[in-house]
Amino acid sequence: MTAGREVIVAANWKMNTRPSDAGQLALEIAHRTAVDGVSRVICPPFVCLSAVREAVAGEGVGIGAQNVHDQLAGAYTGEVSAPMLVGLAEWVIVGHSERRRDFGETDDLIARKARRVLEAGLRPILCVGEQLIDRDAGRASEVVGGQLRGSLAGISAESAVAGGLVVAYEPVWAIGTGRTARGADAGAMADSIRQTIADVGWGEAANGVPVLYGGSVTSASIGEFLAEPSLDGALVGGASLKPEEMAAIVGRAGIVARERRAVASR
Ligand code: PEP
Repeated sequence: MTAGREVIVAANWKMNTRPSDAGQLALEIAHRTAVDGVSRVICPPFVCLSAVREAVAGEGVGIGAQNVHDQLAGAYTGEVSAPMLVGLAEWVIVGHSERRRDFGETDDLIARKARRVLEAGLRPILCVGEQLIDRDAGRASEVVGGQLRGSLAGISAESAVAGGLVVAYEPVWAIGTGRTARGADAGAMADSIRQTIADVGWGEAANGVPVLYGGSVTSASIGEFLAEPSLDGALVGGASLKPEEMAAIVGRAGIVARERRAVASR
């Protein structure tokens, strides 16, 4: 990690929990992860946003949506727009690989969504990641770079930095599989992501963009990722439904955040 960047642990609950139990789970996680210096984010299903928001009010936990529509309003049955999320969430995951895979989301669509999120004053967590076939063929950086260039189309460095855009590097083969990337590979990808962002015209601003790792992160593996100076935290799926796992993951992130503050104050 680098001295100035924010340390973030975001929980992606995917299609789990109900309004009747989500608040209790969120509150337990909030209580068990109350450490200084780490931005904690819980992303429940849309229907649980209100319950989670009420339950963790005053706990310093951010709330995120897992998806958003690219239009503001209209005849889009079953969809939710960015302005509708204002007041319910501060963050929105866009471009998760499950959306890309199961709903055919393209980089172009994801860029439109990310722009809507920023326009609404919400923070995008933009997900990118290669398939195993790409990594095995040695083209992981090329694929992730292509996704980034497409997903950032039309987004200025100024609006993204002011809006607190975060990138989550999530190799598809590591999501929900129990397999993780090696820390060094994920760290190298974070460097490559910032290089791509600099190359698309952001220049120095790219250095300030937090990059998270996601893909089967648990309390056992988080240390390997947080040891990488270029990684700034994690997007956690399955393990984020377990308060004891979140306590250990955020606890580890808290140690790194303290180290980072110490470096910054020297
Ligand atoms: C995710 O959903 O973003 C994710 C990384 O899931 P998991 O931790 O379960 O692999």
